[in-house]
Amino acid sequence: MLHPISDSVASNALSSGAFVPFFQPQYNFETGAMTGAEVLVRWLMDDGKVVSPGEFVPEFEKNGFIYEMDKSIWDKACACLSGWRKEGIGIDHISVNVSRVDFYHADLSDRLDSIIRKYGLKHSDLHLEVTESAFAENTEQFITVLERLREMGFAIEMDDFGSGYSSFCTLKDIPLDIIKMDSAFLSYNDRYKRCGKIVTAVVRLAHAIDIPVIAEGVETKSQSDFLKTIGCRFMQGYYFSRPMDAECFGRLLRSGKDAFDALPSEKDTGSLDFFDINSQSTLIFNSYVGGAAILSLDSDGKVSALRMNDKFFEMIGVDRKSYADRQYDIINGFSRETADAFLNAMAESERTGKETSCITCSENIDGKGRVFWGFNRLRFLTRKVQSSIFYLSVEDITDKIRLRESNMHLIDEIREREDLFKHAAEQIDLYFWKYDIRTKEMHPCFRCQKVLGLPKLVTNYPEPAIEMCIFPEGKKYRQIMEKVDRGENVDIVLPLTNARIPYRIRYDVRMGDDGTPAFAYGTAIPAKESEL
Ligand code: C2E
Ligand code: CA
Ligand code: CA
Repeated sequence: MLHPISDSVASNALSSGAFVPFFQPQYNFETGAMTGAEVLVRWLMDDGKVVSPGEFVPEFEKNGFIYEMDKSIWDKACACLSGWRKEGIGIDHISVNVSRVDFYHADLSDRLDSIIRKYGLKHSDLHLEVTESAFAENTEQFITVLERLREMGFAIEMDDFGSGYSSFCTLKDIPLDIIKMDSAFLSYNDRYKRCGKIVTAVVRLAHAIDIPVIAEGVETKSQSDFLKTIGCRFMQGYYFSRPMDAECFGRLLRSGKDAFDALPSEKDTGSLDFFDINSQSTLIFNSYVGGAAILSLDSDGKVSALRMNDKFFEMIGVDRKSYADRQYDIINGFSRETADAFLNAMAESERTGKETSCITCSENIDGKGRVFWGFNRLRFLTRKVQSSIFYLSVEDITDKIRLRESNMHLIDEIREREDLFKHAAEQIDLYFWKYDIRTKEMHPCFRCQKVLGLPKLVTNYPEPAIEMCIFPEGKKYRQIMEKVDRGENVDIVLPLTNARIPYRIRYDVRMGDDGTPAFAYGTAIPAKESEL
């Protein structure tokens, strides 16, 4: 933009409608309701560029053109408001900026009055923002006009409160309805700890003289939280929304979105290093190889995930948007028993300051019934006014749990079969064992152990069995075992035990991978009459 701006450029812009009102919503951060909007001028250039007022307002204030421009903006803004009202989507009020210079025009109040009437609006629909520096000049004419405007029913807002030095003195003399406090300097809170105290004092003072305060320039969650806690609930700023043109603002009104809908989905808490976008902790958090989240345990017992890294979502296989419902009550997503375990682990970490761990089961992580088992490590980080903050890292152990479950299943199944087999063996008077040809080890069945008194593992087989007189015809039995060792199957009737009861002994040899005899299954059942 070429400076100085010539009169003809300015008046051409005015007549071609190049000055347009943008709207920035103002919210009640307690209820979330949109309470109004500030009207901010933009200059639309022929090449499509949108020029901010910082580039031309100061110059127009010097050359006096500002009054023409302001009147046109007020007119257009009121036209918009009246249009939205007719649609039934109106807001309580709009706030327009009135330059200090505008007060030198004798017809200021008449002009504002006629604009209101032109669009069928009430005076209270229009708030007039006047900068603190104008108040500081405190000329008689200024006060007279201001009083007149107030009497007509316009609300007067003192803009940029706190930016000058005279604010506190002027408050007592000047008729005004609302204080607009610039909270931009809250962002220096870390370096200048006093800023927070000054803001607190301003709000308290305003409260004492019964004047509402709206904070502008609110950019972060921590600022909005801070302001809310000190009792300043009206807010405006980039954190909620940037100024937008009338069309976008109309759409926002139609959508019925409140402050909370408009907020960015990833909330930060500001006071923690983890929420400083550039901090080392954040970098580590984002690039951490596993799933990680920052949790807040609120005084009402709800656990919300304030931040989650990408890996977290990759691991649970759900995208951020679909997870949004769960995000502010993550306990609800866990199975009952594991939810308790999680809360206990949080409590213990907070109590001891140490890392704790627990296993959780999310029975329906994706809303489609998929089960997710997580191994959680929790670490308490800090306590805030209403909540405690934790660091969580999660490992996916769904497969491990499944495997364990199926192993348990198998073991159960084996036990059951063994039971069945025991029962059957007893009924048919059966003995069975496994004989390892290479090591000469014998693994007897439970019945061999119980009835014949063999140990669980018999080495140097068949000698101990012969010694114990299980096979009274020792020599014959040794020959049989030699056959088995050579890999021959055996089927023979032999007397068993001192009682010499004839049993049919069978060996069934199995070959190893190398093709040589590896082991044999042995069985003994009572011989039939005919076999003797
Ligand atoms: P202002 O009245 O203090 O307006 C607030 C300024 O802060 C606006 O800048 C707005 O876009 C900006 N802002 C809003 N939220 C945030 C935030 O979270 N962070 C930061 N850093 N800034 C934020 P804009 O629109 O560039 O206006 C600048 C100034 O120009 C205004 O300051 C006001 O003094 C003047 N101005 C704007 N529109 C008009 C107008 O129609 N008439 C007159 N006379 N002056 C105007
Ligand atoms: Ca303003
Ligand atoms: Ca301001």
